[in-house]
Amino acid sequence: MINAFLIKYAEIALKGKNRHLFEDALIHQMKLALEKTEGEYKVTKEQGRVYVHCLGEYGYEETVEALQRVFGIVGICPVAIYEEEGFDKLAQDVLSYMKEYHPGFAGTFKVNTRRANKRFPMESMEVSAELGGEILEAFPEASVDVHQPQLRLSVEIREKIYIYSQTIPGPGGMPVGTNGKGMLLLSGGIDSPVAGYMIAKRGVTIDAVYFHAPPYTSERAKQKVVDLAKLVARYSGPIALHVVNFTDIQLYIYDQCPHEELTIIMRRYMMRIAEHFAKERKCLGLITGESIGQVASQTMQSLAATNEVCTIPVYRPVIGFDKQEIVEIATKINTFETSIQPFEDCCTIFVAKHPVTKPNLNIIHRSEEKLNEKIDSLMEEAIKTTEVIMIQ
Ligand code: ATP
Ligand code: MG
Repeated sequence: MINAFLIKYAEIALKGKNRHLFEDALIHQMKLALEKTEGEYKVTKEQGRVYVHCLGEYGYEETVEALQRVFGIVGICPVAIYEEEGFDKLAQDVLSYMKEYHPGFAGTFKVNTRRANKRFPMESMEVSAELGGEILEAFPEASVDVHQPQLRLSVEIREKIYIYSQTIPGPGGMPVGTNGKGMLLLSGGIDSPVAGYMIAKRGVTIDAVYFHAPPYTSERAKQKVVDLAKLVARYSGPIALHVVNFTDIQLYIYDQCPHEELTIIMRRYMMRIAEHFAKERKCLGLITGESIGQVASQTMQSLAATNEVCTIPVYRPVIGFDKQEIVEIATKINTFETSIQPFEDCCTIFVAKHPVTKPNLNIIHRSEEKLNEKIDSLMEEAIKTTEVIMIQ
C-alpha cells in the first residue's frame, strides 16, 4: 500500500533563495541515490514538500536505505495514497490503513489533517475529529491524546489522500552540492573515509587523492582505496579519485633526509601534491582523517609542520575524536570492514622506528633544501602520471 515517501528536511535555517538551492540540491542527490535501486520513481516538490512517488514495483527496504544516505533528509515518512472520493471513503481508507499498519492498536493517538485541496468540503479540524471518532469505534482500546500521542496519524487532503504515521530517521546534514568542494586525502585506513563522510554531510562535494607506492604497496592496497571511495560515494555522490604514484618521491626522501623526519617530510609533499589537484579541480580545501595525538605525525607540532606547506585551508573533521568514536562511524557507514583489510599503505613501509613527534620547522626546512630541484621534477612527474578514476 505504501506508494510514496514524504521527505522531511530541516528547513528552519532556510530562507528565500537558500531554500530553493537547498531543495534543488536535495532532489538532485535523492535522484542519484534512487538511480542505484531497482525501482522507478518520480521526485516532486509540491507546496514546500518533497515527495518520492514510487511508480510500479519497487523494493521498500532498498528505497528507504537509499534515502537514508541522502544528506539533508531528517525524516522519511512512508505514505499510503488513496483516491479522494469524499469523507466516507476517506474514513474507510483510514481504517484500512490502521488495520494494515497498526493492527489491534491500543495506545494513544492523534489525527493531524492538512487540507491542501480546498475543494474538499470539510475543514481540517473537523476531519481530524471525525476520523478520531471512527478510529475510537474501530479500535476500542485506543484513546486520544492531543499532547503526547504514541501515534500521530497524518492525513493530507490533496488531489489524492495521503496517509502516514511513521517517520524513519534520515542522516541529517546538508545536501551535497550546497557547500563547495573539497579534496580528500584518502588512504586505506579507518579515519579518512570517515572524514570524507563527515565533510560530505555538511554539503561539501568531494574529490579524492590517494598516494600509491608500488611495488611497496600492492595493487590490492589500491583496490582497497577504490572500494573505500565507492563506499563513501554512496553518501557523497561521484568522486574523482586521483591515484598518485608516490614511490620515487618517497625513495628520494628516504635517501636524502634523516629517517626520523621521513614521515613529516613525506606528508608535506603529499599535501603539496594534493593541493595541486585541489586547485585544478576547484576545491576550496583539503580534508584529512587526522586526529590530534593519534600517532607521531598527528601531534600539534607535527600537524603544524604539515599544515605549513598548504595555502588553502585543511579541514580535519575527526580532529577531536578518539579512535573508538571514529570506528563507530566507520561501522555505521560500512567502511570499517574494508579499512581493516591488511594491505600495507605507503606510510607503513617508510616509517622510522623513532619518528620525531615535535618537529622543528627550521630543521625540516634544512632537510628539504637538500632535496633541491630534483624533488620538483619528481613532483611534476608524479602529477603528470596521476591516474584519475571516476568513482560513481
Ligand atoms: P587513516 O586511518 O585515514 O589511514 P591514519 O591514522 O593511518 O589515518 P596517517 O597514516 O598518519 O593516519 O594519515 C593521516 C591522514 O593523512 C589520513 O587520514 C589521510 O587523510 C592522509 N593520508 C595518509 N596516507 C595517505 C595516502 N597514502 N594517500 C592519501 N592520503 C593519505
Ligand atoms: Mg593511514
